Amino acid sequence: MKTIENLSLSGQRALVRVDFNVPLTEEGQVANDKRILATLPTITYLADHGAKVILLSHLGRPKAAPDAKYSLRPVAEALAVRLGRPVGFCEEAVGPKAEAAVSALESGDILLLENVRFYPGEERGDADFAAQLAKHGDCYVNDAFGTAHRAHSSTTIVAQHFPGKCAFGYVMAAEIENVNRVLQSSERPALAIVGGSKVSSKIDILQRLMDRVDHIIIGGGMSFTFIKAQGGEVGQSICELDHLQTAREIMSLAEQKGVTLHLPSDVLAADDFSPTANTQICSIFDIPAAWQGLDAGPESIKAFIEVVQKAKTLLWNGPLGVFEMEAFAGGTREVGEAIAEATERGLFSLVGGGDSVSAVEQFGLSDRMSYISTGGGAMLEYLEGKTLPGIQAILDFA
Ligand code: AMP
Repeated sequence: MKTIENLSLSGQRALVRVDFNVPLTEEGQVANDKRILATLPTITYLADHGAKVILLSHLGRPKAAPDAKYSLRPVAEALAVRLGRPVGFCEEAVGPKAEAAVSALESGDILLLENVRFYPGEERGDADFAAQLAKHGDCYVNDAFGTAHRAHSSTTIVAQHFPGKCAFGYVMAAEIENVNRVLQSSERPALAIVGGSKVSSKIDILQRLMDRVDHIIIGGGMSFTFIKAQGGEVGQSICELDHLQTAREIMSLAEQKGVTLHLPSDVLAADDFSPTANTQICSIFDIPAAWQGLDAGPESIKAFIEVVQKAKTLLWNGPLGVFEMEAFAGGTREVGEAIAEATERGLFSLVGGGDSVSAVEQFGLSDRMSYISTGGGAMLEYLEGKTLPGIQAILDFA
């Protein structure tokens, strides 16, 4: 894999696509700088090796036109504080102003250009817009795993202008290496925990994992479709009636491939989708008609933890209950804690996909997992086996 360490950098203009799509407060300040922190090693390496660093990113969903609400200016300020060095900002990403700002750079300087999604060409993957961006650089680095599944100008198309001079930044390289480590699952048994609300959004992942892991725990809302498919009564629980056959196919594929599927046996049911609902523990096959399962029950949690304790490689995608409500966070938290403990004893644990990452953060377990993916949608597509255009472009033009 070609990384920034393979580029010749001294005096060169390094055009770097980063993922600074950070949440902002109402006052326009950076609310969570996790993504900024993740890019510091790449930016520091480039600047310390004499490159002129030109950063590109998107922020939010502006309507292909400038919108002060989505300006990257506050991000430049937050980045400067974190880096402990000045970061220039230009209120345009292409055109004479941006070109002048770039040509004023000296080795080691860092410049952030304005939100690339202020331009209609970006999301269209427009070749002219990519050519204008390319004017800023002598080499191109992609470190934005979170948008690697988009064939946009700044994430993919621009790479064509840098044959032999493209590389992955450290965030990208770490994401690819860690997910591949799980998908290649050399350390067995390998376990995938797949939760969340819908089977329909996880079919491709489940199918692909069948060739790669020994055990799959299916939890959260999606488990009810599997229970219903086996004739269980799931009451008001979230259930995709149009995917009962899908659930049956996944179960028979697991059998064929020798993968052990673990479904919950009991459930914490509630009489309302509310943090103050009345609750009871019942068999997941026998949920009263007016009730809904919102978390794994104690027997299921215990069984899941036993599987976690035996695993050597683990992928976790999707919560095991409605963890956003404290009353239904227990299953996700307890299994999360078991993963953290097993990781301390040598398990390789990767948490990927938006909601499980938020859950792990909410429970303060992030630092105790082996690796937490920064890219939600991109990670899911990678796990599904799709070619991510942002990754492919670097491989093609490295
Ligand atoms: P996903 O985006 O498909 O990974 O689903 C994540 C969402 O699933 C979270 O917001 C959880 O609250 C929700 N979820 C998990 N378990 C359940 C459940 N038993 N009933 C309803 N929603 C659930």
